[in-house]
Amino acid sequence: MADSPTGRCCLCGNTYVNYGNNAQPLDNGRCCDMCNMTKVIPARMSMPIDHQPHRIINPNRNDS
Ligand SMILES: [Zn+2]
Repeated sequence: MADSPTGRCCLCGNTYVNYGNNAQPLDNGRCCDMCNMTKVIPARMSMPIDHQPHRIINPNRNDS
């Protein structure tokens, strides 16, 4: 019971319980659930995703 893993969110500094979430692409560390939902996931959405080649992420870009 006393060994529940905790850590400090690398984005907001709050303590999270369990293992937190991968904070990439914003940070290499771990973040709390709140930051994951409000910061990390939106950041991922706005990044180009390599493994969805037939999906147009941002039609305003002219990379190809
Ligand atoms: Zn946080």
